[in-house]
Amino acid sequence: MSDKFDVIVVGAGPSGLSTAYLLAKAGLDVIIIERGDHPGTKNVMGGVLYRQPTEELLPKFWEHAPIERPIVEQRMWLMDEESVVTLGYRSKGYGKEPYNNFTVLRAKFDRWFAEQVVDAGALLITETVVEDFLYDGSRIVGVKTGRSEGEIRANVVILAEGVNSLLTQKCGLQKDGIDSSQLAVAVKEIVALPKEKIEDRFNLEEGEGATIELVGQNTMGMMGTGFIYTNKDSLSVGCGVLVSQLVEKEGLNPNELLEHMKSHPALKKLLEGGETQEYLAHMIPEGGYRAIPKLYRDNVLVVGDAAMLCNGIHREGSNLAMTSGKFAAETIVAAHEKGDYSAGMLSEYQRKLENSFVLKDLKKYQNVGLVMEKNRQFFEFYPHALNKALEEFLTIDSVPKKEKQKKIWEDITSHRSKYELIKDLYRGWRMMG
Ligand SMILES: Cc1cc2nc3c(=O)[nH]c(=O)nc-3n(C[C@H](O)[C@H](O)[C@H](O)COP(=O)(O)OP(=O)(O)OC[C@H]3O[C@@H](n4cnc5c(N)ncnc54)[C@H](O)[C@@H]3O)c2cc1C
Repeated sequence: MSDKFDVIVVGAGPSGLSTAYLLAKAGLDVIIIERGDHPGTKNVMGGVLYRQPTEELLPKFWEHAPIERPIVEQRMWLMDEESVVTLGYRSKGYGKEPYNNFTVLRAKFDRWFAEQVVDAGALLITETVVEDFLYDGSRIVGVKTGRSEGEIRANVVILAEGVNSLLTQKCGLQKDGIDSSQLAVAVKEIVALPKEKIEDRFNLEEGEGATIELVGQNTMGMMGTGFIYTNKDSLSVGCGVLVSQLVEKEGLNPNELLEHMKSHPALKKLLEGGETQEYLAHMIPEGGYRAIPKLYRDNVLVVGDAAMLCNGIHREGSNLAMTSGKFAAETIVAAHEKGDYSAGMLSEYQRKLENSFVLKDLKKYQNVGLVMEKNRQFFEFYPHALNKALEEFLTIDSVPKKEKQKKIWEDITSHRSKYELIKDLYRGWRMMG
């Protein structure tokens, strides 16, 4: 093995694999280093994979990749103790080519993606942890791995290490120790169910998929969400909440929160008879635009979750990871042609991100995290109030509708004043920009 490459990519998740794939295809000498046994073994995702950004890298990937189901229906459930308000969008068109998005299991998908990366010419090394950098003066010239004789040199290092961004911190791009209000802790179970049961319970044609996002009582008033996604013959069921808020609930662990969510009557029927096959836990970067670290320095770029490029509002992460990987690769190809890997040259990466949906979306939602974190009524009071209002309105008991409307309004204003309601409305409007 050569110990000098054009590029070292640390981490074989969607961001690292995308970068390595495009660089290898462009003819650069690339090594991608992953600490897991295989790409995908250390990775957790709900997991909705978006067709368009994936297809930009891997045309018609769904014909070969291990995808689970194309998603034809996306639902949102606003949860109360025993009831739920449901919203959703279903389209037959999403079940046909070119599709909109798919459910995937990362253990399978990442492994397949990594095979494409290796076929494109990159060298993949697994079960290897990158521990530190190699320096020439203050310039980073490679990495030190945990293996004996594990020093590897390159012109540029891509940090695609995910949310636990120790190397990004170590080289000074990210501040040491990310604030617990900028991280969510998420747990997920894969629950085996026969495919006929899945299609029956979720009202799906053969092969079609659905997603449900859950907001409200399921997170016990904490900022976060739950999810249920249909795979071929299993369901991905999980939830995530801000770390800073979970620690306030002394003694509550994420597994108990998931069990609490699963015990809701509306979920019980969907999960009935399912057998938990796997249990996974992971962090999600929730800091948003304001928490994005410095994205480059001489000879180094940061991509994906390590760069906080995650849009929790729309449950988007893999697409931001892949797109940032693509921009990183394009930037490095240009740098390679000029033989210039200076921060000035690599700043093009940031410009590309700024001109794309990645930073435009994160900027649009830059206030959401701050506002939601401090205003828990959005996760507690409003889902509850909406459930109660609909219960009142839909219960037929010979009370005139006008009186019902009055009662609903009185109930709401007995908990939040008109002034607070107007403020919340304004907050909501500001948040969504
Ligand atoms: C519960 C949950 C649900 C989610 N749901 C969705 C969803 O439905 N759709 C969506 O688009 N996004 C979702 N996300 C977000 C999405 O998973 C991430 O945004 C995405 O995986 C980021 O990709 P990445 O390549 O940057 O990081 P990762 O996928 O985390 O990959 C980083 C890789 O680097 C490796 N690594 C780390 N440090 C080192 C080291 N020092 N040496 C060697 N290897 C190292 C890790 O083992 C890992 O394989 C979800 C996340 C979670 C936790």
